[in-house]
Amino acid sequence: MDWRDELAMQSGVRRRNEDHQNMKIRVYHDPETWVDARYEVCTGCDGRGKYVNPGIDAGGITGSEMAELGTEFEESYFSGRFDITCQGCDGKRVRLVEIWERVPEEIKDKILAEEEGAMQDAAWERAERMMGA
Ligand SMILES: [Zn+2]
Repeated sequence: MDWRDELAMQSGVRRRNEDHQNMKIRVYHDPETWVDARYEVCTGCDGRGKYVNPGIDAGGITGSEMAELGTEFEESYFSGRFDITCQGCDGKRVRLVEIWERVPEEIKDKILAEEEGAMQDAAWERAERMMGA
């Protein structure tokens, strides 16, 4: 899977739990449990808010492939014509990230467990969609 697909999946899971107004993230399936969060530059797009559509260059384009595709393609590629909104930050350039030092120990485990579970669910949903279910 391309890293951008993975990023979109992860943030789809996380975005449901973010409260941008109060700068908090809800950590697990408990509406009462929120932890402090801060904005960090999005690592998915390096703060650009967009990246090249993975449908164009999933897995990367090598130098020889680029040569084959021609200069017109190359110019479009680098001018950002194939860019899409970053799925990691929704084009905001920053993401809400929990302030890990302030998260109580017993909640840390739950965060990690929930993220893992949510990723597995998302992977399943995706696999089912691809099979046309
Ligand atoms: Zn981003």
